[in-house]
Amino acid sequence: MIRRRNYRRITRGLRFRLTASYALFFAVLLIGVAGLLRARLATMLDNQVHDVLDQEWAAIKGYLRIYKADPRWYYDEHDPDETFIVERLRRVYLLTNSDGKPMQWSTTYQGIGIDSPAEIQQRVRLAVASSAPGTAGKTFWSERWDAQGAPYLIRAGIVFDEQHRAPYYVAIGTPLTNNANILREFTWIYLGVIPTALILGLLFGWFMAGRALEPVMAVAQAAQRISGSNLSLRIPTRQANDELDYLILTFNRMIERLEASFQQMKQFSGDVSHELRTPITAIRGQLEVALFTAKTTDQYREAMVSALQDIDRLSQIVRALLLLSQAESGQLALQKSRLDLSEVVHDLVEQFQIPADAEGVRLRGETPRECPAELDRVQIERMITNLLSNAVKFTPEGGEVCVRLRSLADMVEIVVEDTGRGIPGEYLPHIFDRFYRVPGSGSAPGPDQGLGLGLSFVAWIVKAHQGTIDVESSPGKGTRFIIRLPAGKVGAGTQEMTPQPIMNEL
Ligand code: ADP
Repeated sequence: MIRRRNYRRITRGLRFRLTASYALFFAVLLIGVAGLLRARLATMLDNQVHDVLDQEWAAIKGYLRIYKADPRWYYDEHDPDETFIVERLRRVYLLTNSDGKPMQWSTTYQGIGIDSPAEIQQRVRLAVASSAPGTAGKTFWSERWDAQGAPYLIRAGIVFDEQHRAPYYVAIGTPLTNNANILREFTWIYLGVIPTALILGLLFGWFMAGRALEPVMAVAQAAQRISGSNLSLRIPTRQANDELDYLILTFNRMIERLEASFQQMKQFSGDVSHELRTPITAIRGQLEVALFTAKTTDQYREAMVSALQDIDRLSQIVRALLLLSQAESGQLALQKSRLDLSEVVHDLVEQFQIPADAEGVRLRGETPRECPAELDRVQIERMITNLLSNAVKFTPEGGEVCVRLRSLADMVEIVVEDTGRGIPGEYLPHIFDRFYRVPGSGSAPGPDQGLGLGLSFVAWIVKAHQGTIDVESSPGKGTRFIIRLPAGKVGAGTQEMTPQPIMNEL
């Protein structure tokens, strides 16, 4: 069972598949090349024997003379070269008259079988018909076998006697055994070479595929070592600047992002438990004290009121957290609509007038007559409310808070500034973090203290609108939040807004 699974794991592996496709390609290539070479070799050998027979035919005409039905070979019998040539010409040789009656023949030709008179007569007729005066006319090629099965190529045609009157049938041949042997030998060599080459190719392919996949395995092993507790591990690149290095780099970047969000989650859950523990401990303390020490109804009432305040704070935190997590996980989609931002700011400034008065803070808004933009009204109101409530909260009596609105080319700019206590430079980078409160901004978290979530919301709302937020602050002098948001498609008929602030003393 295990063996079978191992086998399946190997056959499904990339290395196996790479090698298999390589071997298949190699086999098809080898067989194709072998077939082509064999066909080419066969044609070359065939052409060669045809050429030999053509030359021998021409030579016959030089040596053979026929006078009045009497064929004679003319050559110098004392010349060994000429004798040899004529002997060769007559090795596979037949001469008949036009009726097919044999006049001269070699024993080899007899072994192959003398052509039938009917066939000879027909050939002679065809050849004469196709011959111009004095030429040989059509030639006939055939392949024949002797009693032992040895193949011969035969070239037949006609020659005329010296008076150019009567045609005679001549056939000469040459053994093809040599050619057949060469082809057979070639086939056998190739049949031996193909499997050997294939096995060698397979081994080589397996080795190369293994080498190519080695770094992939290294990456996989390194990736396996990375877990939630050691997300700081990185896979070293090979400095080869290749696809694999790119993969490693992408992988490392992914781990980096994972590490960041892991860190954020850890921080967040720590913060949450800390924030929740404080009011819970307070409630418990108050109730315990009431239980053991309170005697009058008023004392009980006091304990319950203060416990209720802490419970309010608890539910405030939970609500805010829920909203923030919905926002950050993308479940809180923006509902953009065309609105007049001037009107929104105007209304909010009006709402904040009473708390500002109570704190002895002068609050004013500077808005153009109209400021159209495509934004999510609820979120924009929440954003300005958070900024305004901070500004009022952190500005001492006699100070001033101002909201300014400007319409730029395709942007709107909202500035909330105060003459409050400001934020020291070293704390500025953290003020948008969840639960962050500038140290020394109050004693231990109490019911009147902020949750440290307001600016996290502001940051999310700005980001969701693809805008930017900047803070300028000098301790003791004041703080300025500058937000720029894309105005969106404000539609036709909107007149171009020129920055024309109207002092709205509210
Ligand atoms: P909180 O609910 O505590 O106000 P925020 O996220 O809104 O939380 O703000 C984070 C911290 O930034 C605040 O605790 C405060 O110390 C500081 N802060 C925010 N706005 C101002 C401001 N206008 N002036 C001075 N400090 C501010």
